[in-house]
This record gives sequence, C-alpha cells and structure tokens, in this order.
Amino acid sequence: MNLDDYRGVWVFIEQNDCKIEGVSLELLGEGRKLADKLQVPLAGFLLGHKVKPLASHVISYGADEVYVIDQPILKDYRTESYMQGVMLLARQYKPEIILYGATPNGKDLASAVATDLSTGLTADTTMLDVDVSNRLLEASRPAFGGNIMATILCKKHRPQMATVRPKVMKALDPDTGRLGRIIEEKIDLIEEDMRTKVLQIVNDVTKKASLAEAHVIVCGGKGMGDLQNFQLVHELAETIGASVGGTRDVVEAGWLPHEQQVGQTGETVTPKIYFAIGISGAIQHIVGMKNSEFIIAINKDPNAPIFDVATYGIVGDAMEIVPKLIDQFKQV
Ligand code: FAD
Repeated sequence: MNLDDYRGVWVFIEQNDCKIEGVSLELLGEGRKLADKLQVPLAGFLLGHKVKPLASHVISYGADEVYVIDQPILKDYRTESYMQGVMLLARQYKPEIILYGATPNGKDLASAVATDLSTGLTADTTMLDVDVSNRLLEASRPAFGGNIMATILCKKHRPQMATVRPKVMKALDPDTGRLGRIIEEKIDLIEEDMRTKVLQIVNDVTKKASLAEAHVIVCGGKGMGDLQNFQLVHELAETIGASVGGTRDVVEAGWLPHEQQVGQTGETVTPKIYFAIGISGAIQHIVGMKNSEFIIAINKDPNAPIFDVATYGIVGDAMEIVPKLIDQFKQV
C-alpha cells in the first residue's frame, strides 16, 4: 500500500428520512480544521434515496466536495448496501481519513468498512487532531476505565478511520454562499442480491426529553450528600427552567435515573449554561460536559478538578449557596 496515494478528509453524512444527523454537521466542523491543517479538501459522502438535495446543505457546513450515491436500494440503512457504497467511493477516491458519527448506524458501517478495507478504526473518540508532518490522524478516547486518554494512530494502513461521539465537536455556522463540487456515483446492486430487508421502522416512543438538547442544565453530584438535599438541585433547575442531570455516583445512589447521567457512560451535553454542584470533576464526567458554553461549578474543595474546566467557580458549601441562588433567581 502506497500511503501517499491517499488524500483528503471525508465525513460520512448520516441521514434519516432525508434529515442530516447533527453529529455529521459537527464532524464537518471538525473535519474542516483537520483538512485545513493537512491542506487537502474536505468531503462529505452521502448515501440514500432522494438525498441529492442535501448536498448543498453539506457544502454550506464546510465541505468542499460531496460524493452522492442516490438510489432506491439505499433508502433504508442496511450494512450490506451502505458498505458497498462506501467501498466503491473509498477504493476509487482514496481518502486518507474517514470520520463517522458514533451512532448505531455509524458504528456499524465504520466497523464493516474497516474490516473490508483491512484498515484500523478508533471507536468512540472524543478528540481529534493531525500530525501534519507524518499525515497521521491522532484519535483520542478515554481508556482503561476512563483513567487515561489514549491517542490511537493508524500508521500503516489507509484510510485512517474513527467514529466520533455526538455533541463533542462543534458544527460551523452554515454559509449558504459557499461553493463546492457534487460528484455522483452509482453502485451495482439490485434488491434480489440483498440478504436483508427492512420490513418496518419503529420509532422509540419511550425516549425521554433529551438532556443532550437542553440549553441549561443543573447537574448535581455526590457532594449533595443525600436524596433529600438533592431536591435543591431540582428546585434550582425548576426556578430557572433548566434540565436536571447527575453524575454516575448520583445515578448509582438511585437519586436519578440513568437517562439523566452526564458523562462517558451517560449523555454528552453542550448546553449554554451548565451548573456543576457538588461534582468533583472526574475525567469520565468531564468528557460529557466540557464543551458547555458556560460552566458554573460549586464545590467546597478549592482543588476539585471541576474548577479546571469551569468558567466561574464558587468555593463553598452547596447547602448554603444553592438556596441563596434559588432566592436570587426567584426575585428576577
Ligand atoms: P465525588 O467524586 O465523590 O465528588 C463529590 C464532590 O462534592 C467532591 O469534589 C466534594 O468536594 C464535593 N462536595 C462534598 N460536599 C459538598 C458540599 N456540601 N458542597 C459543595 N461540594 C461538596 N461519572 C460520571 O459522572 N459520568 C459517567 O458517565 C461516568 N462514567 C464512568 C465510566 C467508567 C468506566 C468509570 C470507571 C467511571 C465513570 N464515572 C462516571 C465515575 C467517575 O469516575 C466519578 O466516580 C464520578 O463522576 C464522581 O461523581 P461525583 O463527582 O458526584 O462524586
């Protein structure tokens, strides 16, 4: 394999019912940075049926090129047909980096493609960069139970591939005046060749109002002491119209359900304002909230690691501070 034959940063544009998933736009934002550093084009690749009109949207979010395979056989996601599409594009155009959202379909597709292309895949990454002189993707993710951040390199194979967690990267503001190229391709596959059929798609109606969508989150930690004190977190959230989150320790204590856990094994959130109350700031928690716009931390330990990522920090007892905040907000 001649590694120099491979050029360009590519992003899998995941769509459902012709709506682009947010993580794909986030990856275009991050991919733009990597492509600029490597001085190569950024491309999105879009598979589906009746998806071609989405290509201009992909360009407005930072892509220079969009590769489109628009065929009825790609209407619903199936590993077999989507993999054929990606393989065709990857073999023909030889991108050096391919990024996918770490969604169920993105993970499925990336692992199938990695196997068929005999290349490496770093799963569930939370940080990306490039070593420009060696043209290496530096894909980082928590490892060893979240105790370290591991940076994983794929030195001998191309393309270098990673799945990236939703809500970790930032999308660019769309620029509808951006110009880009749209390249169409076709796969040679008929329905009779397919081993799987989609009979019905059932939406998950049990899905809770997502923390990931919240603009303001009040998140409480074990420092709240007990379930009764934790009511202060709910009260503050209610006063300011925020959603409630908790650390894993809080969930394990049974003070909140798992859906409200923030962090590596919970939700990744990016609200405008994030209150971290009685939270130490373990790496597994930080990876899930560090991209919040304003982080306000309340902790009685001035050395708590949460203060390293906080925009504003209040050192003190949450049992005294939170009731005062609630009183003040009620007067506004
Ligand atoms: P603690 O670490 O016990 O911190 C409590 C804090 O409250 C302390 O800093 C203390 O100074 C402060 N405090 C105490 N009393 C008061 C008071 N009266 N007023 C103000 N401050 C006070 N954690 C997550 O949150 N999300 C995850 O998704 C997650 N996934 C994990 C995955 C793995 C594989 C592993 C190994 C761990 C994971 N964890 C996760 C757990 C994580 O390592 C920490 O144990 C957890 O985040 C700590 O929760 P905490 O901050 O609530 O509690």
